[in-house]
Amino acid sequence: MSATNSPRSLHDLPFPALEEALTRADVRPIHTRALWRALHREAALDLQTRADFLPPLRRWVEAHTAPGGPFFLDTPQAVADLRSTDGHTRKFLLRLRDGQTVETVLMAYPGRSTACVSTQAGCAMGCTFCATGKAGFTRHLRPGEIVAQVLHCQRILRDEGKPGLRNLVLMGMGEPLHNYDAVMTALEILTDRRGTNIGPAHVTLSTVGVIPGILRLARENSPYALALSLHAATDAERRVLIPASRRWPLADLLGACRTYCHATGRRIFIEWTLIAGVNDTPSHARQLAAALEGIAAHVNLIPLNPTAAYAGAPTASAPAQAFKGILQAAGFPSTLRQRRGIDIAAGCGQLRGALQE
Ligand code: SF4
Repeated sequence: MSATNSPRSLHDLPFPALEEALTRADVRPIHTRALWRALHREAALDLQTRADFLPPLRRWVEAHTAPGGPFFLDTPQAVADLRSTDGHTRKFLLRLRDGQTVETVLMAYPGRSTACVSTQAGCAMGCTFCATGKAGFTRHLRPGEIVAQVLHCQRILRDEGKPGLRNLVLMGMGEPLHNYDAVMTALEILTDRRGTNIGPAHVTLSTVGVIPGILRLARENSPYALALSLHAATDAERRVLIPASRRWPLADLLGACRTYCHATGRRIFIEWTLIAGVNDTPSHARQLAAALEGIAAHVNLIPLNPTAAYAGAPTASAPAQAFKGILQAAGFPSTLRQRRGIDIAAGCGQLRGALQE
């Protein structure tokens, strides 16, 4: 089958594209809402047997989503499902159609559930402290494969009698801005009010500093929150932790952040993994404060999630508090985050790595 008539995922399509697909088959646009609602509000998998679809839609679904038809659904299989001992975090290893596996984390607290999804199978950024980075890049995810991770979490929450997701973070496997178009299409689908309806302000994109992507977010006045994984405030130290940062010097990166804040009127979340003896001294904190001059930044300090692939250790509580104090004294709001789900290898890539070993 050629690339042009390969089957497509219904989960890849934003509302207007789905409407167009129906219209091309002479199904009136009015039926799009019922199909969209089933796909994205109900996270349904039983399209072929829905009694609530009117006959024209039922016939379209039967003809177009049957095996060998032009469309399919993204229904990744959970090949691992781990629960943290505190009972709030679940981590899934999901197998995609071609056998690739990605990690998805669901953090469910009363009244606020958050999904952390992957945007690539593997990652090309090679961060030394990250299990995914160690394993290398395999391929980009399609929009539907990103959407399907969220829908998997929605079905879990529904089965547990909990309200749907409120927050979405793109901090799983992969660099979201390295897969920009697919990520933006997935977010268009997931923030659509007629379906999954996650508020754009409740979506956080994470990047290690892909400057062209940050500038594109600025140009497009992106409505999503942006988190920059900085981890070091000199080029030399950053290159050790994030080899891909060689392509994007720190001065240029911080310039792009200023452009982003100015263009969008939004602050940036600076993510700083605290690694004992590596980037957690008072002098590192002062360096960071100096680098952030002129940027509307909120700093999230996260003690390292230990992985078998990296020898570093998390910063202890007292030096972590001191680091935070220096940033706050310099005028940068800072939060010392708890490491969640350590007992289920919640650092990205750890579960996949463990199951492949
Ligand atoms: S930390 Fe993120 S950007 Fe870095 S290698 Fe891991 S997945 Fe990629």
